Amino acid sequence: MEEWEYFVKKPVKVQAKQWFNYSDIPHIVKSYLEIDQKKIGKSDKVCNNCGLEMCKHGFVETFEGLHIVCPGDWIVKGIKGKYYPVKPDIFYATYEKVKK
Ligand SMILES: [Zn+2]
Repeated sequence: MEEWEYFVKKPVKVQAKQWFNYSDIPHIVKSYLEIDQKKIGKSDKVCNNCGLEMCKHGFVETFEGLHIVCPGDWIVKGIKGKYYPVKPDIFYATYEKVKK
């Protein structure tokens, strides 16, 4: 029988900002037109995640490469100055707002 140990994640305070469109944190989340189309593949006209047109999406550079950002996704400031998008349902299940 496999023995699995139990752990609780240590609480880590992160900074996050909800992204809706290109005027939000444009230095971090790039617009659809700004990024190299070859990196994302231009076959899809609408997002298979949220159903909105691809032109309403943003892109953020993560350790795993370019990541699509749907309107309403949260951008979390991670360690080592990288940012990553988190879906709202996951975000609210994982994070609780605290004072600065
Ligand atoms: Zn989407």
